[in-house]
Amino acid sequence: MPVSQSPNAKNNSGSCRVLAVVNQKGGVGKTTTAINLATAMAAVDKRVLIVDADPQGNASTGLGIPRASRGAGCYELMFDGLSVEDVAQPTLIPNLSIITSSADLAGAEIQLVTTERREFRMKDALDRSTNNYDLMLIDCPPSLNLITLNALIAANALLVPLQVEFYALEGMTSLLQTIDAVRARFNPDLDIEGVVLTMYDKRNSLSTAVERDVRAYFGEKVFETVIPRNVRVSEAPSHGKPVLLYDLKCSGSQAYMHLASELLKRDAAFREDMRDFPEVASA
Ligand code: ADP
Ligand code: MG
Repeated sequence: MPVSQSPNAKNNSGSCRVLAVVNQKGGVGKTTTAINLATAMAAVDKRVLIVDADPQGNASTGLGIPRASRGAGCYELMFDGLSVEDVAQPTLIPNLSIITSSADLAGAEIQLVTTERREFRMKDALDRSTNNYDLMLIDCPPSLNLITLNALIAANALLVPLQVEFYALEGMTSLLQTIDAVRARFNPDLDIEGVVLTMYDKRNSLSTAVERDVRAYFGEKVFETVIPRNVRVSEAPSHGKPVLLYDLKCSGSQAYMHLASELLKRDAAFREDMRDFPEVASA
């Protein structure tokens, strides 16, 4: 599969990149990747916003914001006309803000069906942001529903976490079909920024076999960095912290820092490539 980067780097004020973390399977590491990649990027002075678009609210909980103290969040952003600035909250981590998942988001799916510009509610709201974020990460629900569709339309590109397991590639056909359909109808520049292998166990020969298959399927889209299965990663959310804050030295934290650096390098290489296209380079 050829690597074609999207030149559509500008979709709100400044040059913010909007990445949706998507895979319709649950438990593959979407939320863990959103939280920890966001933290690693914030640690290198990027201004980052997480949009918790999953009614389960795991990103909000994992960043230390319990359900009771959430207030207005993603639902109010999409339906009540509140702005990013109205609903974004600071987190424990400097440079990292979050739009939490609100209780009403669970009913949003049904409500969207009859809402005007139902596919564009999230994009319209994020585009109006006047805050200069460098990166927005949308943590998607485990389904290809209307909320996920909103995220795919709001995003410049996608991050796809794949859990290293026998059925890792199962469901990828429907995800790729959905991406094609979104491109054709709503967001022509949508692309996969990268596929990240999660919960990798190097002692298990299955991991190597799955990695080989995924790299054969997605080619250069797959990040070199793989996220190991690491108990510290799974403990961190119950402390309301990203693993980078919970245990910086553990293998999971180190891997997420590598992933952030790989993403930054890809972005820099992309900008370099685009220098010959002045109208894009200035975006
Ligand atoms: P998703 O958002 O795709 O549903 P999560 O990020 O919530 O997936 O991860 C599912 C479960 O796996 C969570 O309990 C999480 O703590 C755990 N987990 C995720 N990544 C790792 C990892 N690298 N090592 C160990 N456990 C992990
Ligand atoms: Mg999740």
